[in-house]
Amino acid sequence: MSVRLAHGIGDPPADRPVAAVVALGANLGSRADTLTAAVEELRLLPLTTDVRVSTPIETVAVTLAGEDVDAPRYLNAIALLRTRLAPATLLRELHRIEAEHGRVRREKWGDRTLDLDLIAYGDVRIEEEHLTVPHPRAHERDFVLAPWLQIDPDAEIPGRGRVDALLAAVRGGAS
Ligand code: ATP
Ligand code: CA
Ligand code: CA
Repeated sequence: MSVRLAHGIGDPPADRPVAAVVALGANLGSRADTLTAAVEELRLLPLTTDVRVSTPIETVAVTLAGEDVDAPRYLNAIALLRTRLAPATLLRELHRIEAEHGRVRREKWGDRTLDLDLIAYGDVRIEEEHLTVPHPRAHERDFVLAPWLQIDPDAEIPGRGRVDALLAAVRGGAS
């Protein structure tokens, strides 16, 4: 079966739906509206169902220089979805949605209208040039772990452990 996507035919779809986790972040523009629109676009993805989203949380921007209280704050949320899109295809769709919301990549960890990261894709582990899953920094980010825990109290990051324990470690380490 082939799947028609915005940029053509993607990798072959998975045989059965996989639980994927997507992190959403925005610190420029109408942040809440952008996140709402992005979730609607996730719902419209082919081969994708059961999109659930956390309540957004507001967080201090993290830049290359560390936390920047003077930078515009982020709204962060987590979306859970069931999808048969292959991981690389899903990432490409996430990049398309970012671009539709005016995402510009200038400096690393710079301000952005929308950032969509693929945090996990079932139990799958991928280490490719343009795609690492689970996301290599998710386990150390309060702004990923907290909203994720909110919608899935039993969540785990493959190879890292339970999200509740990881969040406790991040917060413990910060105090
Ligand atoms: P970070 O990855 O630390 O959250 P960022 O989101 O600001 O930083 P981007 O500029 O959005 O980084 O993405 C840089 C590259 O990361 C992208 O070109 C993409 O190919 C790659 N990448 C690798 N693994 C993933 C993933 N799991 N989710 C999203 N992008 C990924
Ligand atoms: Ca990111
Ligand atoms: Ca990103």
